[in-house]
Amino acid sequence: MDFKIVTLPGDGIGPDIVTEAVKVLNKVGEVYGHQFTYDEQMMGGVAIDHKGSSLPKETIDACLAADAVLLGAVGGPKWDNLPNGDRPEKGLLGIRGALKLFANLRPAVLYPQLKHASPLKEEIIGDSLDILIVRELTSGIYFGEKNKVVCEEDDSKTFASDLEKYTVAEIERITRVGFDAAMKRNKKVCVVDKANVLESSRLWRVVVNRVAKDYPEVEYSFMYVDNAAMQLVVNPKQFDVIVTSNIFGDILSDEASIITGSIGMLASASLGEGSLGLYEPSHGSAPDIAGQNKANPIATILSAAMMLRYSLNLDKEANAIEAAVMNVLDAGYRTGDIMSTDMKQIGTVEMGDLITAAIK
Ligand code: NAD
Repeated sequence: MDFKIVTLPGDGIGPDIVTEAVKVLNKVGEVYGHQFTYDEQMMGGVAIDHKGSSLPKETIDACLAADAVLLGAVGGPKWDNLPNGDRPEKGLLGIRGALKLFANLRPAVLYPQLKHASPLKEEIIGDSLDILIVRELTSGIYFGEKNKVVCEEDDSKTFASDLEKYTVAEIERITRVGFDAAMKRNKKVCVVDKANVLESSRLWRVVVNRVAKDYPEVEYSFMYVDNAAMQLVVNPKQFDVIVTSNIFGDILSDEASIITGSIGMLASASLGEGSLGLYEPSHGSAPDIAGQNKANPIATILSAAMMLRYSLNLDKEANAIEAAVMNVLDAGYRTGDIMSTDMKQIGTVEMGDLITAAIK
């Protein structure tokens, strides 16, 4: 089959790592008989420099016309204090909005080969870990009504508030993303909320219970967020898919990712109503190592695997990429960020080449 992919290499190490992911995708195309056509567009600092905006209209139009979007990373000190207030990160928020992406999927995967990198004890983490956090991305307290009332006479009465608001439709669509993802994994969902004190969480429970009827094979449960934060460090292996609101997901996905210990390994996906999605590594543009053949391309390569699974419905091919990454780690190859004693240190390009060669 033919698929149209927009690539947004962006800034810093973005171009280094996207190049490697494209190499791997091309090999997948060769082995499995697909044609991936790429349309490279500008976003972030590079777009500010060349087009005068962090998110040019032609980039949005190209993304809307694509089957999926693969992003490197944006940002860097060069664009931190622009007089017109534009920033590379504005492009990122803008593209998520333009593509109406409301679900953020962040896997926290600890590979057995890298278990020493986890800050958790071995008896807790075991040999590996594989959790998927599904976070609602466009609603809740970050986007709810904001209010600040200053009391001139008595400052102690000045107040500010942010509204945690969710509609049934918003809860339903994110729940479906979580349950659909669970169907592709171990069919287990934990919905994290604060239903003992929040009315919005109680509505989440009503809607989740209703949606769950459409997924009889999925075993699901609810957990309060304070307990979930604790359980992630004392017994993370109990989780498969966690579905949660914008703010809880923001916090828990960072907590879960640090458990894996390796930022260069963490993929992510942002999905909307249709099959179009945006796939990117969880890390930033690492300007300190840009263009030096030092960046770990694995997070981006694994993001490309998520793209095959969630936007292009190519499960077998996604598995092939993940297996190739495993093989290369098994053979002892490491980029600098995940290097340890007795392993073989290699650069970005060599890592991309080895994973490409391991695609079967
Ligand atoms: P960062 O993730 O870019 O870097 C943090 C540290 O991790 C650095 O030492 C870096 O060298 C290292 N690192 C990151 N990715 C790596 C990889 N693939 N391989 C090896 N080492 C890696 O975070 P930061 O330094 O806080 O931010 C740098 C820039 O990136 C800033 O401009 C920030 O705004 C931007 N940023 C962009 C995104 C994004 O595009 N989604 C996300 C976070 C930060």
